[in-house]
Amino acid sequence: MRIAVCPGSFDPVTLGHLDIIERAARIFDKVVVAVFTNPQKTPLFSMEERVDMLLEATGHIPNVEVDASSGLLSDYALKLGAQVIVKGLRAISDFEAEFQMARMNKKLAPSIETMFMMTANEYSYLSSSIVKEVARLGGCVGQLVPQGVARRLAEKAGRS
Ligand code: ADP
Repeated sequence: MRIAVCPGSFDPVTLGHLDIIERAARIFDKVVVAVFTNPQKTPLFSMEERVDMLLEATGHIPNVEVDASSGLLSDYALKLGAQVIVKGLRAISDFEAEFQMARMNKKLAPSIETMFMMTANEYSYLSSSIVKEVARLGGCVGQLVPQGVARRLAEKAGRS
């Protein structure tokens, strides 16, 4: 069975993420979307909320599972029996960090390949950070994130 991991912080999941997940699910037998804690970022949504939003957003794709982890991605992928880590690339600016992570993961777990998918044109400018910023200032993000996420962002914005 061909298993791929799609890792990220997903704070929150956007339609850009979802496009990559859907495309990966057409190629691999199983895709595990793994929400990782990133100590360098202070998340807006708790781990539980991020997992819930991903579960809602991927409910229509039968071969996608959602999980949470806080350790090393390479260890996680090995334990899962995954062969591939799938990541999205938006722009040249993503390349350097992704290159470094892919090389390091290859060093730590030589049997696992990192594969990159180019972002869809319409989502190439989209990041969780810009979506949070627009929502916080009262802008409409309905076309950029799944419905449930837009609702939760509006709730958070209303409370701040
Ligand atoms: P971000 O970089 O927005 O904080 P994550 O850490 O959750 O997002 O990213 C997880 C993965 O999803 C990364 O490989 C990232 O490049 C990819 N990704 C994020 N946004 C998009 C997008 N709009 N199109 C394609 N891939 C994306």
